Amino acid sequence: MIDLNFLKNKKVAVLGLAKSGLAACRALSESSVNYVAWDDSEEKRKTCAADGIRIAKDMGDFLSNTDLVVLSPGIPHTLPKPHPFIASTKTKNIDIKSDISLFRHALPDAEIVSVTGTNGKSTTTTLMGHVLSKKLNTQIGGNIGIPALSLNGAKDVTVFEMSSYQTELTGDLNAHGVIWLNISPDHIDRHGSMEGYVEAKKRIFERNAGHGLAVIGVDDLYSKSVADEITARPDWTVITVSVERMLDKGISVIDGQLYVDGEHQIDVSKLPTLKGVHNHQNAACVYGIARNLYDFSNEDILAQLMSFDGLAHRQFVIGKRDNVTFINDSKATNFEATAKALSSFKNIFLIAGGQAKEGGLSGIEDYRDRIAKIYLIGEAENAFADFLDNKDFDYVRCGTLDKAARVAFADAKSSKTPATILLSPACASWDQYNSFEHRGAHFEEIVASL
Ligand code: ADP
Repeated sequence: MIDLNFLKNKKVAVLGLAKSGLAACRALSESSVNYVAWDDSEEKRKTCAADGIRIAKDMGDFLSNTDLVVLSPGIPHTLPKPHPFIASTKTKNIDIKSDISLFRHALPDAEIVSVTGTNGKSTTTTLMGHVLSKKLNTQIGGNIGIPALSLNGAKDVTVFEMSSYQTELTGDLNAHGVIWLNISPDHIDRHGSMEGYVEAKKRIFERNAGHGLAVIGVDDLYSKSVADEITARPDWTVITVSVERMLDKGISVIDGQLYVDGEHQIDVSKLPTLKGVHNHQNAACVYGIARNLYDFSNEDILAQLMSFDGLAHRQFVIGKRDNVTFINDSKATNFEATAKALSSFKNIFLIAGGQAKEGGLSGIEDYRDRIAKIYLIGEAENAFADFLDNKDFDYVRCGTLDKAARVAFADAKSSKTPATILLSPACASWDQYNSFEHRGAHFEEIVASL
C-alpha cells in the first residue's frame, strides 16, 4: 500500500471503482485523506459502501470542494464523450490524475521502468520484472492488473505496464527507463485519431527532472518518428530496436540472434516461452533496459530469458505428452493475434472458434504450410467451415473445446514429426465462456485429463 500522506490537506474524489479505484480508496483511507468515491453502477456503489468506502451522494457531493479526481483508465475524460462528472470538473479547474501519477508523487525517488506499445505490453512487463529480479528487488503493476497504489513503496524497481489511457493521465511520470514496443491503430474512439493515440502514449516520456533511457521499437513508421523525436530531446538517451533489419546503431534480432550495433551478443532462438519474432521484439527491449540501465551481463540476461515462465493464456506452453506440445493462446481473440502464434510453431493442430470477430480467419492462407489440421468450435464453427471449404485446409467441426482437444490429440499423436496442439481461437470467448482466461483454464484442465 502506498502512503498518500502528501494529499492530507486536499479533498480527493475517486471515479470508477474497479481494481485501481478500489486500491486508491484503500490507500487514501489508510493515509487519512479526506475522499469520496463514485461508480456509475448502483450495485457497485452499494457493495463498496457496505465495505466502508465513502460513496458520494451525487455529482454535486462528488465535486464539492474537490481538489483532485483520481480517474480510472476505463472512463473517458475527453473522447468519445467525457463522463459527465469529468465534464463538470473542467469548469471548476479540478486536477485529474491516474493512480500511477499518485504513486510517483508519493515516491519521488522511486526507480520506475514503464512499458507501453499496442501489442506485447503484459508479456514485456512481466519479462522485465523477471529479468531484473535476478539482482534487484522488483515489482510489477499498472495495466497488468496490479493497481499502482496497492504496490510496495520500498522496492528497488517498479515496472509499470501502461495503456494509452494511463499514459494520457500521467504527467511527470519521470520514468528512469521506458520501453516503447510498437504502435498500430487501436482505441481510436477514445483518442479521436491515430495522431491522438500516439500523443496520448507519448506522455510516457514526460518528466520534470533528470535523465532517462528509452528503448524504442522502430519497425513501424509511427514508432520510428517517435524515436527520432525523443532522440532530439536532451532529457532522454534512446536505444532503437528492430526485429526486421540490422541496425548500425541499436539492438537488432535477426534469425533469432541478438546484435548490438551489429555485434553478436546472445542467441534468443531457443527461449522456451518466447517464440516468434514478436517475442524477440519484447526480449530485445527488455535486454536494452537490463544491459544499459542496470548493467546486467549477457549471461545473466540470457539465463533469465531462458527461465521465464511465460504469461498465462498467451502462447503459454502447458506441457508435452509423447511428441505433442500443448499451447494455450486463449488470449488470441482475433486473427491478428492468432497469426503471431501460427508464425511461431510448426506442424500445428489448431483449435479455433468461439464468437467470431470481423475478418474471421481471413489471412490464414499465409500459414498453410504450418497447419496440419483445424478443429472448429463454438458459434463461429459454420462460418469458419464455409470459409475453409474453398481453401486447401483439412478441418473438422468439434463444437466444444473438450471434443476438439481429444480429437486433435488422437491425430497429433500419430504424427511422424513433433506436433503442436495450439488453442488460438481468433474469436472472443463469450459464446461458451465468461472470459478468455476461463476458456484457457478449461483447456488446461482438459489437457491435464488427457
Ligand atoms: P498486451 O498486454 O499489449 O495486450 P500481451 O503481452 O498480453 O500484449 O500479448 C497479447 C498478444 O499479442 C500475444 O498473445 C501475441 O499474440 C501478441 N504479441 C505479443 N507481443 C507482441 C509484439 N511485440 N508485437 C506484436 N504482437 C505481440
